[in-house]
Amino acid sequence: RVSIESVHKSFAGTEVLNGIDLQIGPGEVTVVLGPSGSGKSTLLRTINHLEKLDRGSIDIDGELVGYRRRAGKRGASLQELPEREVLRQRTRVGMVFQNFNLFPHLTVLENIIEAPVSALRQPKAQASSRALELLARVGLQGKAGAYPRQLSGGQQQRVAIARALALEPKVLLFDEPTSALDPELVNEVLDVIKDLARSGTTLIIVSHEIGFAREIADRIVFLDQGQVVDQGPPAHIFGPQAHPRTRAFLAKVL
Ligand code: ATP
Ligand code: MG
Repeated sequence: RVSIESVHKSFAGTEVLNGIDLQIGPGEVTVVLGPSGSGKSTLLRTINHLEKLDRGSIDIDGELVGYRRRAGKRGASLQELPEREVLRQRTRVGMVFQNFNLFPHLTVLENIIEAPVSALRQPKAQASSRALELLARVGLQGKAGAYPRQLSGGQQQRVAIARALALEPKVLLFDEPTSALDPELVNEVLDVIKDLARSGTTLIIVSHEIGFAREIADRIVFLDQGQVVDQGPPAHIFGPQAHPRTRAFLAKVL
């Protein structure tokens, strides 16, 4: 379970996240929609502490992200965790970016086993056999020895998903996973994400693929100017009871 409470974040005096509250249950699929600059990427980045919080807290399965609580004379305060602890926590959160971010000098297999071996200290043989299973799951059996440059964008993104899954994360974050892809490659990536959604993986997905969101989301969160303006199941978000700003946004993108 991911609990986001009263999260505030500003850059150079501009409030980008303006008091975000979200509770995401295990196995839930949440899609985040919102205009450019509304804070979607920043919100995802706070979940694995790539951004520090100004205020509020994020908790994953009972563990505070990035900080520890310290009792003091004037009540509890938060103290930042040391880098080593932050890195350990990041192994619990998978992240898939728009631009794949694979290591170009490593093969597909080496990309997938890098974190399990170096961060989780898994034996190489065990990590490799698990990596081959994951490659089959994303439809890329036979590509273990290829280098990223030898793959299409859709294939690279599926490797990135397998790499994120290799850490068996408690939650998987996607930031516009298909927006850098040629249109004909979008579905092969969306199909892999749909399969993950059906198998009960907790997913938080920023995407402009509205049809996809409608199909797989348990809940859609509409963000505007750093605030959750509206949230609910697709039937609410696409229905007449949606917030006027949600409806105005959808009218523009649909
Ligand atoms: P998009 O749909 O274009 O990806 P977004 O909803 O993901 O937008 P964010 O990337 O979270 O939006 O950015 C929200 C705001 O915060 C923007 O105005 C952006 O310029 C600003 N911002 C984000 N990161 C930084 C940073 N590291 N330093 C300064 N400003 C930043
Ligand atoms: Mg973004």
